[in-house]
Amino acid sequence: MHRTARRPSAPNRLSRSRRRLLAGCAAVAAALGLTACGTASGALQPPSAAATSGTASPADARPSGTAATALTPTPGSDAVPPGAGSPAASPASPSSPSAPAKPHPPAATGTPLSTTPTAPATPTAPAADPSSPAAPPPHTGAGTVIGSTASGGRTVALTFDDGPGPATGQVLDLLAQYHAKATFCQIGQNAAANPAMVKRILAAGHRLCDHSVHHPQPFAKLPHDKAAYEITAARNMILQAGGPGTEVGWFRAPGGGFNADNEHITASLGMSSLGWSVDPRDWARPGTPAIVSAVQKQLKPGGVVLMHDGGGDRGQTVAALKQLLPWLVAQGYTFDFPAA
Ligand SMILES: [Zn+2]
Repeated sequence: MHRTARRPSAPNRLSRSRRRLLAGCAAVAAALGLTACGTASGALQPPSAAATSGTASPADARPSGTAATALTPTPGSDAVPPGAGSPAASPASPSSPSAPAKPHPPAATGTPLSTTPTAPATPTAPAADPSSPAAPPPHTGAGTVIGSTASGGRTVALTFDDGPGPATGQVLDLLAQYHAKATFCQIGQNAAANPAMVKRILAAGHRLCDHSVHHPQPFAKLPHDKAAYEITAARNMILQAGGPGTEVGWFRAPGGGFNADNEHITASLGMSSLGWSVDPRDWARPGTPAIVSAVQKQLKPGGVVLMHDGGGDRGQTVAALKQLLPWLVAQGYTFDFPAA
């Protein structure tokens, strides 16, 4: 049974049985500060401090001129996928052997220089975070980042970031074919620009996750007020887009850039911090076969798979999903939501 995402009324439950994911966000590294995957260039502008109230309406929250463009990400600017390796869920085995580290290059493919510039040479190493180049992902938060499913066992939680985007409809069609449920980590301004898609996601039984308003990176470096704004306003935008009864159970920091501060902000809003344990780096468009095989190799029962339905051309992701869904079913996996 899918546990219901944490309710807004259950704040501060940081220590639940959550796995700690060092969602290192490598991304961070690269991140040009404010790259927004899936968002138009205008989205790169961090919100003004004034917006920190978190209660800004979607419209207010949008940097001028970014609303309409949010859905048409500039190719190459998507990159900001979150990322980072999250040593899978078990803190005990930081070096989870079978879980290749997931570097998480945030920056768009078009900006190679910004992508994990200091990342370890090995492709499997987590992208280095400027602030903590050390081996483990730069995640130094409160240790509450989730990287496993709610039910455990032979379940998998599919998560799609940076939408709603042009590929969201195709993703939903595929999921429906396999009666699979997933979690969509949406960029606030994208949700505000396409409320119909947000409603469609909910109507199909999927769940929503807050992925910030503009996808700024490195997220962990944001001042408290900006982080609070990004998290709170995006949640409000998603809630408004979804309509009455909408719940947003998780927040996933862009690039996996969690830290103690943003994890607390997240918890205070009744959401859980969501990481991942499987990162096929689909945002980088490595080719459909590479995406498929990465998931097949990294996934373990109870895993959380990170993929993207927004932030650029997701044709490879859709094609990979087409192969992965039947594979997951054949492997005996059932679809679950992330732990709360
Ligand atoms: Zn993202």
